[in-house]
Amino acid sequence: MIKIEHLVKNYGSNCAVDDISFEVGEGEIVGFLGPNGAGKSTTMNILTGYLSSTSGKVTIDGIDILTDPIGAKRLIGYLPEQPPLYLDMTVEEYLNFNYELKGCRLDRARHLGEICDTVKIRDVYRKVIRTLSKGYRQRVGIAQALIGNPKVIIFDEPTVGLDPKQIIEIRNLIRGLGKAHTVILSTHILQEVQAVCDRIVIINKGKIVANEKTENISSAVDRSRRFNAKICGPQKEVLAMLRGMPGISYAEALAERDGEAYTYMVESEYGVDIRKKLFFDLAARGWALIGLEALGMSLEDIFITVVDQSEERPSKAARPVRRSRGQEKNTLEREVGATLLEDAKKQRAEAALHQTEDDE
Ligand code: ADP
Repeated sequence: MIKIEHLVKNYGSNCAVDDISFEVGEGEIVGFLGPNGAGKSTTMNILTGYLSSTSGKVTIDGIDILTDPIGAKRLIGYLPEQPPLYLDMTVEEYLNFNYELKGCRLDRARHLGEICDTVKIRDVYRKVIRTLSKGYRQRVGIAQALIGNPKVIIFDEPTVGLDPKQIIEIRNLIRGLGKAHTVILSTHILQEVQAVCDRIVIINKGKIVANEKTENISSAVDRSRRFNAKICGPQKEVLAMLRGMPGISYAEALAERDGEAYTYMVESEYGVDIRKKLFFDLAARGWALIGLEALGMSLEDIFITVVDQSEERPSKAARPVRRSRGQEKNTLEREVGATLLEDAKKQRAEAALHQTEDDE
């Protein structure tokens, strides 16, 4: 449905998008992820025909955005980071205005009514947009993007500045839209693509660094390989046993003591569930396992795993990647992971601040 080939965009000497190529199939929801300044908005703006590229080709359902911009734009609904709302209009006036602007031929009352139901804005239909909360404004922006029933919908950072409840609602809404539309969702929040997208394309410094099915990320998250184990027994000997146990790739003693029990961080080899064996082997020695806590992967770990997979895998098939602790991470991975982590923290702090919105 969307095909991007060798796309380049230079701003003077600054290369914002550096020869990127990827495709989005019909009905897919693809997350376009990257830290701030990675080139997401630039790419989105080229895709939607708002910005010209320096070189490369973009086609939407086979229509070249450069040679037939009007034909291509007809197929796209776009919600930019700042929704183009006219604050002095009512929702009704604004949607009717957009209906006319787009030259929409669908039955007006029915079409707008359906859109209002989809994005749940019927209760504010006659209100002036200025008086609406950020969450409602965002929904009005989405409603605008849906006019004309476009095959492709593009969202640029749709949940920035929303509170946690609004974020969940908008994500559910986007997920629902994916049933009837092809969706690209640009974001700097990894959890957002995990929650909503079938596939994830990661961009950093203008280059694609990963193009993965979301389940590959999710399996990395689900199959936790790290545990904190609380074990009663002599610390040195327990540690030696853990380190020698097949299936354990790493073990260290933590500075935690609970009576006669010490805590150890153990990491299993990929695909190995060590829990039962750990229990029986320790019991055989008379050392009681009194606690076992799975440690989730950090956002940075997940990100690095995804980048690893894309770099190390010759084929597209999902394949687990083994990373032993202390293995050198390359600079690019570390940089992107850290920036994403930082961005995610800021986002959570921002969302907490906005929790006071009162009309939803
Ligand atoms: P993102 O959306 O991922 O945050 P952008 O596409 O906005 O990234 O920006 C990519 C790079 O291009 C950044 O280095 C940014 O400073 C630069 N850039 C974006 N827009 C312009 C512009 N209009 N003029 C010059 N440089 C720009």
